[in-house]
Amino acid sequence: MSEASPRKTSDETGFREATRVWLLENCPPSLQGKSQVAIWGGRKWRPENPDERVWLERAASKGFSAPMWPVAYGGGGLSKAQNKVLLSLLRELRIPLPLVGFGLTMIGPTLLQYGTEAQKREHLTRIARGEVLWCQGYSEPGAGSDLAGLQCRAEEDGDEYIINGSKIWTSNADAADWIFCLVRTDPDAPKHEGITFLLMDMDQPGVTVRPIKLISGSSPFCETFFNDARALKANVVHKVNAGWTVAKALLGHERSMIADAFGVGGTGGTKRVSLAERARRYLPSDKSGRLGDPVLRDAIAQSEINARAFALTVQRSKDGMRAGHNPGPESSMFKVYGTELNMARHELMVRIAGPQALGWEGAGFEADELALTRDWLRTRGNSIEGGTSEVQRNVIAKRVLGLPD
Ligand SMILES: Cc1cc2nc3c(=O)[nH]c(=O)nc-3n(C[C@H](O)[C@H](O)[C@H](O)COP(=O)(O)OP(=O)(O)OC[C@H]3O[C@@H](n4cnc5c(N)ncnc54)[C@H](O)[C@@H]3O)c2cc1C
Repeated sequence: MSEASPRKTSDETGFREATRVWLLENCPPSLQGKSQVAIWGGRKWRPENPDERVWLERAASKGFSAPMWPVAYGGGGLSKAQNKVLLSLLRELRIPLPLVGFGLTMIGPTLLQYGTEAQKREHLTRIARGEVLWCQGYSEPGAGSDLAGLQCRAEEDGDEYIINGSKIWTSNADAADWIFCLVRTDPDAPKHEGITFLLMDMDQPGVTVRPIKLISGSSPFCETFFNDARALKANVVHKVNAGWTVAKALLGHERSMIADAFGVGGTGGTKRVSLAERARRYLPSDKSGRLGDPVLRDAIAQSEINARAFALTVQRSKDGMRAGHNPGPESSMFKVYGTELNMARHELMVRIAGPQALGWEGAGFEADELALTRDWLRTRGNSIEGGTSEVQRNVIAKRVLGLPD
């Protein structure tokens, strides 16, 4: 591994050059140019390409798996400007992010805000090293948009809680090691006031998961059942019965993460190939070499302009955020716009590819066409996950615009 230490370089140019050298020396060649690879980590992770583990370990020891987290918790201690440089280099060199997942984007930032020192030292360092994969236990069969109506119960037993109930739509629960969960600890309190935010190890006899098959053919989420499952009281985040405050903070991080996926350089699903490039593959051009169909040309131009404007707006908002400031209800605006933009983009890609975007398997379709069908179907969930578009609009109306109920 290189001796160069980008973190000690004060000016941005020096940091950029040192980081570029470090990335090229330390990212295994089999992963360079493979930015679409998603490295999830966790105890059950068995990567097809062993270099993924090598890359994760090297990046984590450099602090690049959680670049802006404090060094004491396994992060890189990078400034916002340095992090931006690192991300732009990863994009430019098409090197995969060293680590992805709810640990980094949801529970990690929430623990930085609300966790005890012991919780930060235990959980953040394991997340940053990619040792633990997290999932989110919020939704229940009878509590989605009305999340505070949740019924999953936790009762005290010495220095532990005993948990009974079920969750649904738990993304990656079958692969996850730990779950952050909302549980009812005071059934007699008003519904928002009897909820506790609890961290729980999934690897115990009281927890079972059952994958749910999606229209796209994959099973990205599960039903999760707790039958006398146990969690230490030390794993309550913030205070008992004050979990709603933590839950809202985490949703802010979740919605920012979803917006990020469609904004700041994210691909939001299918590898970002220019729409015009796609159209040229399927549709005839006019005499001047432009796409022949003027209506489609207009739709493509508008979609690219909207995507660019959105990426810049998300970036401007992030740049303008004071250090240590956490996302507020305005993250709902980005969540609505980013997800609806991504869904419309996929509709357009399907329109461009025509019948070639409707394949499921077999001959006659390229691999990227089969992937497009599945990605397009997957985008149907974008306006639901992390809170539906209707619910985001309610949040914007009440908490951003201050409109009456
Ligand atoms: C891909 C995907 C991944 C997910 N991953 C997770 C996960 O990891 N963990 C987790 O806990 N959950 C997860 N979810 C669940 C998601 O958070 C819920 O589906 C979502 O909050 C909506 O809840 P619901 O499905 O119960 O729908 P409902 O709340 O029953 O809503 C049904 C319809 O009614 C509308 N509606 C409801 N209330 C209002 C209102 N007050 N005003 C206007 N319209 C309203 C909704 O917009 C929706 O159209 C995931 C969902 C998807 C699609």
